[in-house]
Amino acid sequence: MSKDVTKYVYFFGEGKAEGSASMKDLLGGKGANLADMTSIGLPVPPGFTISTEACAYYSANDSTYPEGLREEVLKHLDHLEKVMGAKLGDSENPLLVSVRSGAAQSMPGMMDTVLNLGMNPDSAKALAKKTNNERFAWDSYRRFMQMFGDVVMGVPHHEFEEALQSVKTERNCEFDTDLDVEDMKEVIDRYRALYKRYIGEDFPTDPIDQLFKAINAVFGSWNNDRAIRYRQMNDIRGLLGTAVNVQSMVFGNMGATSGTGVAFTRDPSTGEDKFYGEYLMNAQGEDVVAGIRTPQTIDTLKSVNEKVYQQLVDIRDLLEKHYKDMQDIEFTIQEGTLYMLQTRNGKRTIFSWLRSQVEMVESGLISKETAVGRVPAGEFNKLFAPVLDSDDIDKQGVQEVTKGLNASPGGACGQVYFSAEKAEEMAALGKDVILARVETSPEDIGGMAVAKGVITTRGGMTSHAAVVARGMGCPCVSGAGDISINYKDGSMKVGDKVVREGDFISIDGFTGQVYFAHIQVKPSEIVQVLNGEMKSDESLLFQNYNKFMGYVDEIRKLRVRTNADTPADTHMAVQLGAEGIGLCRTEHMFFGGQRIISVRKMILANNKVEREKALAELLPMQRQDFEEIFTELNGLPATVRLLDPPLHEFLPNDHTSRHEMALQLGISVEEIAQKTTQLHEFNPMLGFRGCRLAIVYPEILHMQVRAIIEAALNVSEKGTEVHPEIMIPLVGHYKEFEYTKKHAIETIEKVFAERGKKIAYKIGTMIEVPRAAITADEIAKSAEFFSFGTNDLTQMTCGFSRDDAASFLGPYVNDTDKQFYEYDPFATIDIDGVGKLVKIASELGRSVNPKIKLGICGEHGGDPKTIDFCQKVGLDYVSCSPFRVPVARLAAAQAVLKK
Ligand code: ADP
Ligand code: MG
Ligand code: MG
Repeated sequence: MSKDVTKYVYFFGEGKAEGSASMKDLLGGKGANLADMTSIGLPVPPGFTISTEACAYYSANDSTYPEGLREEVLKHLDHLEKVMGAKLGDSENPLLVSVRSGAAQSMPGMMDTVLNLGMNPDSAKALAKKTNNERFAWDSYRRFMQMFGDVVMGVPHHEFEEALQSVKTERNCEFDTDLDVEDMKEVIDRYRALYKRYIGEDFPTDPIDQLFKAINAVFGSWNNDRAIRYRQMNDIRGLLGTAVNVQSMVFGNMGATSGTGVAFTRDPSTGEDKFYGEYLMNAQGEDVVAGIRTPQTIDTLKSVNEKVYQQLVDIRDLLEKHYKDMQDIEFTIQEGTLYMLQTRNGKRTIFSWLRSQVEMVESGLISKETAVGRVPAGEFNKLFAPVLDSDDIDKQGVQEVTKGLNASPGGACGQVYFSAEKAEEMAALGKDVILARVETSPEDIGGMAVAKGVITTRGGMTSHAAVVARGMGCPCVSGAGDISINYKDGSMKVGDKVVREGDFISIDGFTGQVYFAHIQVKPSEIVQVLNGEMKSDESLLFQNYNKFMGYVDEIRKLRVRTNADTPADTHMAVQLGAEGIGLCRTEHMFFGGQRIISVRKMILANNKVEREKALAELLPMQRQDFEEIFTELNGLPATVRLLDPPLHEFLPNDHTSRHEMALQLGISVEEIAQKTTQLHEFNPMLGFRGCRLAIVYPEILHMQVRAIIEAALNVSEKGTEVHPEIMIPLVGHYKEFEYTKKHAIETIEKVFAERGKKIAYKIGTMIEVPRAAITADEIAKSAEFFSFGTNDLTQMTCGFSRDDAASFLGPYVNDTDKQFYEYDPFATIDIDGVGKLVKIASELGRSVNPKIKLGICGEHGGDPKTIDFCQKVGLDYVSCSPFRVPVARLAAAQAVLKK
């Protein structure tokens, strides 16, 4: 092959570019790591990898190969045959291979593997002779037929299962392992007939034909619906395609001294530093993962084969040192000899992430930066996810009906459904659902995504359900073998206890317990510690969290504030690390009890005098709110936004409430109706709101500013530092800002004079109208801070209302032929549009006022990708809802590391 021809195929261990990022992109994670393990001397069955570039070509060119690929594959096969001293499909000395997919990022279960390729009647006979194990040979053949038929040719999986089951039933066998040679041959005959019935051709016996059909199927699977959906759900973008690994087979199904297993170098649920895994003797490939039989835990392997066990323990150490992270490995034992089939960075719960990373930092394996850079920010809020309330369990006196495996942590309560479709349907109606299945498969992913919890009756800790649920942070109990599910009549039972579709059940993913009852869920352990309901030294989780957040805070530069309107929210946010309030929405204090009555009086006022009277009623209430919030903040700054929503939002719109209001205020229902009509707006978002209210009715502003400043003085007199920042909403023109600022200062000076005391304060504005962004230099002359209100800024920049956008924004973001917006612009800032305005406004603002403080307070403030953008633009802080504060801190640190 001449030099300028692209190389598409790589033998394992060939070349030196060990697991570097680019090798991963080219060979996929599986291929790169197989090459790595080969290079460091681990027992990996030889094979070769066809690169992701070949897949990209295949996808882009109507399922055809780039020039020379076929020959290159055959050349590598030839080499493999030489190394193995065997020939694919040979009638004397047959080589069998697996054909395995593997993209640069792991996508479990998304693309299927074919094992035992090269099997045909001749090679089966040869294999039987060579291994002196006839049953094994025919078992391997029937497994191959099943996988090839299903994965490569699309014959429905269940057809094979049913054919197998029919033979088992006829022969009175419970497990596959009970079938003998003749039974196997019978199974194979039925498979052959089945294949012909579906495909209209005989099952292929030419091994080269088999091989290329399988390679094509792997390439093709890159764009099957499941794979596309998985990439979408996990935000996996920009990959070329999948690589294909062709690897010589080793056999875990050669009898009692053979087996196959899956292990993690640390506990994927808790992160504990202990070897953690499962295996099955006399089994192959997917048996452990698919939950065919419930597997044994790894420590029992010691008594089965001590040498192999010890070898695995050594490999565990070696791999962690090599990759400096927790690994998820697959291995097979063939007649007492160990082979490594895969290693990758282990998927794990956020609990496991925290503990494993903190312990690796403490043992000196990795740096704090590495730890912080790795922990998935998108998962972080799951640390605060609820758990089942044990008091409620005691109070109700409910007992667990059974206990399965604690496959994915978290407590969940919901109505049970037995199919993914039904679960999706019910969740769409707003129900909390629990999906219960015998075992899950990739088709169930949609149902799992919407479920509050998942339960399976078969399969271990490494089963599909367990792995996927952990990935989603969805509580899961797997392998609850006492439960039997009846799909036909939509029920499940343990002994004589039955629940039907739609009944409430609860599961505890920390312990594996299952309850046929409705149990309350309560706050997570970390939240309990923060609330003072639990001592910090009783919670290892909290301690790890605390240490980890210590690393985070050492690294990050952006400050993190919170959007909080109540003392309770403020308290929680400060506990979670908020460094102040970035947005306190005063109107949230206008609801409830006497307040709303006074607010409505103000709205109905016919003149300034009446309005001021109503506002005077509100003043002490607002002042008290601010006092409590300032006290909670204990010296941290608070940005308080003046009244923003249109006034009609405070009026009732149904008859009964109007009637009630009329009685309370001593006016007629007609008057209320009339005023409501008068205030009605066609487009309230662009209507009489924000600073426009304060400009037309300055007395509202006077009251609010007075409440803020008086509260600040009161709290500071008690010895607590206070930093009030008054924020004018919805400014579009600098004159709007200057007008309102003048009024604010007048009030402030008045209060200072009355009290004979002063306090430092700031006055600034939200930037949420595009006009404000592009004239930010004019506004910045008199504003001390800008807070980007990216919700409104997005609505007004893109020209779509958040409340009405769902119908077209879905397709805009998700449909593969559209994707005009990379992410939902209300969740992640539209960097090229809205973000550009933020950048322009920041630069304009700083050009005239270098000291101006810049922050963001929209929903976006808690979104990691947006935070990364904020870091790049050089904002001073982000502000988000209390429970997103830790995520924001982490994302802020990661933004620094990315630079
Ligand atoms: P996945 O990406 O879904 O984990 P794999 O390619 O790892 O798929 O293969 C699925 C199963 O087949 C795994 O359990 C693996 O260990 C097994 N397997 C793959 N290749 C071989 C082989 N050459 N010999 C024996 N078992 C294999
Ligand atoms: Mg695998
Ligand atoms: Mg706004």
